[in-house]
Amino acid sequence: MRTGWSFIIVAAGQGTRLGGVPKQLRQLRGEPLWTWSARCAQVLFDEGFVEELVLVVPAKMTDAFDLGGFTIPAAIVVGGETRAESVRVGLETARYPFVLVHDAARPFVTPNLCRSLMNSTGKDEGAVPLCPVNDALKKKVALDLSVIDRHDIHVTQTPQCFPREALLKALRRPGTFLDEGEAWLGAGKKLRMVEGDRLNFKITDAADWRLAEALVREEREIRTGHGFDVHPLVPSRPLILGGLVIESPLGLSGHSDADIICHALSDALLGAVGLPDLGTLYPASQERYRGADSYSLLADVIRRVDQEGWHLLWADITLQAQVPRLAGWISPIVDKLSELIGLDPCGRRRVNLKVKSGEKVGPVGSASCMECHALATVQRGG
Ligand code: MG
Repeated sequence: MRTGWSFIIVAAGQGTRLGGVPKQLRQLRGEPLWTWSARCAQVLFDEGFVEELVLVVPAKMTDAFDLGGFTIPAAIVVGGETRAESVRVGLETARYPFVLVHDAARPFVTPNLCRSLMNSTGKDEGAVPLCPVNDALKKKVALDLSVIDRHDIHVTQTPQCFPREALLKALRRPGTFLDEGEAWLGAGKKLRMVEGDRLNFKITDAADWRLAEALVREEREIRTGHGFDVHPLVPSRPLILGGLVIESPLGLSGHSDADIICHALSDALLGAVGLPDLGTLYPASQERYRGADSYSLLADVIRRVDQEGWHLLWADITLQAQVPRLAGWISPIVDKLSELIGLDPCGRRRVNLKVKSGEKVGPVGSASCMECHALATVQRGG
């Protein structure tokens, strides 16, 4: 269903009140502000409601607007000195009989709002989104305040929808207009209202920007990962657990230093954040990992987890070993691991270690090997 609509995004202002780059190019959750509106246009295109996107940009900045990733047919044109001039350029570039004219400073426009507006637009009728005023209003002239009845007052948002040629005519009339609806009414045309969306607010100053950032802040996400490891116990190897050398007649064998606690904990962390496991990231087939210090590998894993935006809330480790007796080593190992992991905001440790014997059963019970399980709970956002 193609119905003859162009989606015009006006992004030609200098938008300097926020400082730095023009507002429409500032990054909101890692994406330039204008792309949030362009995504709405893309959805409407995918659903068959609009045919093209016209992006009106400031002079000498066309290269800063990258439409890679969008499949909606699109044109980038340079706007004019004023908003009205930029809208006129957009209207002259657009090729379809009806237009949505939208301000790039309103990133939270929804396809739903657009569809309501498009449904209310006719051959001779425009449509704009209006929101009631919820605050009490006062008029201030010099130092004199008077009351304004708010019940008839509404604020106008964008997109605003019109038949294209008729809007061009209305904008060519003499005078200045704050928005297209004003020019349309000034030309004696009928304007319909659609209920606006308070979240479709316009970003103007620093407080608006903070509101926008708060709205798109990623939701808190919590995950748990599991790690497991087993290593044979042999004479003639040092026993290294959690980065500490432990007095023992037997040690664990492996390509690296075989620190089974660091291995299990590393795999739990990697699993929680969805990264490949320890053996894939630091392959035993590579000579440089012969005798590797697994405590340093754990430090590298924690750095990777951090880079992905996650932090460890709690790790619980269970080591199963028949020999040697390890009860006295629990605290030193937890302290050593805490040097890497850090403490929680209240200064408490974030790792727990339990040691169990093999009950003389199976390969652990006969001191052929040790086994270790670890669970890591991580958090992102929030
Ligand atoms: Mg291992």
